[in-house]
Amino acid sequence: MHEDDVHSHGRRRNVPESANGMTLTDPTAPSAFHGVDVPSYDTIVNCMHCGLCLPTCPTYALTGLERSSPRGRIRLIKAVADGDLPITEEFRREMEFCLDCQACETACPAGVKYGSLVEAARAQIHEGGHEPFLVRLIKRLFLSWTFARHARLKMLARLMRVYQRSGLDWFVRKTRVLRLLSRRLDDIQPLAPTISIRFSTQDLASRVSAPSPPRSRVAFLTGCLMDVAFADINRDTVELLTRHDCDVIIPPETGCCGSLQAHNGDMTGARELAKHNIAIFARLDCDAIVMNSAGCGAYMKEYGHIFADDPELAEDAKHVSVRVKDITEFLAETGFRPLGKDGRAPFEGVRVTYHDACHLAHTQKITQEPRTLIRAVPGIDFVELPESTWCCGSAGIYNITQYDDSMKLLDRKLDNIESIRPQIIVTGNPGCLLQIRHGLRKRGLHVELMHTATFLRKACEPST
Ligand code: SF4
Ligand code: SF4
Repeated sequence: MHEDDVHSHGRRRNVPESANGMTLTDPTAPSAFHGVDVPSYDTIVNCMHCGLCLPTCPTYALTGLERSSPRGRIRLIKAVADGDLPITEEFRREMEFCLDCQACETACPAGVKYGSLVEAARAQIHEGGHEPFLVRLIKRLFLSWTFARHARLKMLARLMRVYQRSGLDWFVRKTRVLRLLSRRLDDIQPLAPTISIRFSTQDLASRVSAPSPPRSRVAFLTGCLMDVAFADINRDTVELLTRHDCDVIIPPETGCCGSLQAHNGDMTGARELAKHNIAIFARLDCDAIVMNSAGCGAYMKEYGHIFADDPELAEDAKHVSVRVKDITEFLAETGFRPLGKDGRAPFEGVRVTYHDACHLAHTQKITQEPRTLIRAVPGIDFVELPESTWCCGSAGIYNITQYDDSMKLLDRKLDNIESIRPQIIVTGNPGCLLQIRHGLRKRGLHVELMHTATFLRKACEPST
């Protein structure tokens, strides 16, 4: 592309081109981005095409094609923004193929906010109706209908719990009867989370007090999937906080933070959920809003930016975002010491490693805090996981929509795990837990997998 083709108003118009591996179809088509969620042109032209992000990109590693790299995708987005390329099926596939892991942002010397570009491009695809019918149906069913309404999610989770505990789930897995219906359904079935016996919102009161005079007061979001399928992690998180002399406020009427919707193109739905949570959390008198899901924390930290131009919400949104902290960020900043009760060391001699969730490492830039806390556990043998920041392939609903590629990434993660033979893998995101658990089972590896909050809670409480 020739930069002298750039007009004074910052939008390039001229003939399209084929970059390495890209097929820019139908250059005369008038289609371009429109509406509210348009990829920022300033961000697009911030990319100087240096290619330093390419070695960090998992999808580029899979294909070796420029169009599957951050730089290639930015050029594709630019072509659509310029009106040189319509939103084609090929464009849609490339945007969906991206994990939105944001490893490229970590590598980028120009600070290009790639994640915001791909998310806006997905919004253009979604809201412009460019997805196949089945994809739209799945998104509507899960993201809009189920996850966006916590009461509905709970209802579905209860049905699923009956299915899982009745033995029917076991039977379906054992006989692989789903294969008769759809091979893909049979593939993704083991990725389903196990529904908790009791949801965390059933057990956690709206206020949980520290046993001793509190040093601070924090709020905690029980979330959507975390509430129904990872209730034990929510309870562990609250226990850690109270053990750390925090009073914990748990607003009962909260739900999904909107991140799943935003990452999958439903910006309108995501904003609605964000507004709901802002209205609740902005009013709360607390020092921090603690999160235990990397993707949710990352998105709630964005609320201030998302509503920056909204005169009614800007201040409240910012007031929420600036107080959002990942549990490891909060504990490390406030001097938490994971000491075993009565001086006991429950993980004495245990080989422990840590997998970085993308939205913690690349989006929130939190890598040292969890390591500091884990390493402080007495007696453990901490070993770094090779390529610990390389995506495991979970990426929201990526392992459902892009199953085959997701499994290739999981294989790479498992190879790295096998190379160091840990006894415990610690990580900070529910999606990574489900994905890696699936991989460990497939390979028959007997490695314990724990959320960071659970690991730290167990480190302090050896008897349970
Ligand atoms: S977000 Fe991840 S998969 Fe997407 S372009 Fe960046 S590094 Fe590659
Ligand atoms: S590292 Fe940044 S500036 Fe360089 S090609 Fe990648 S996104 Fe563009």
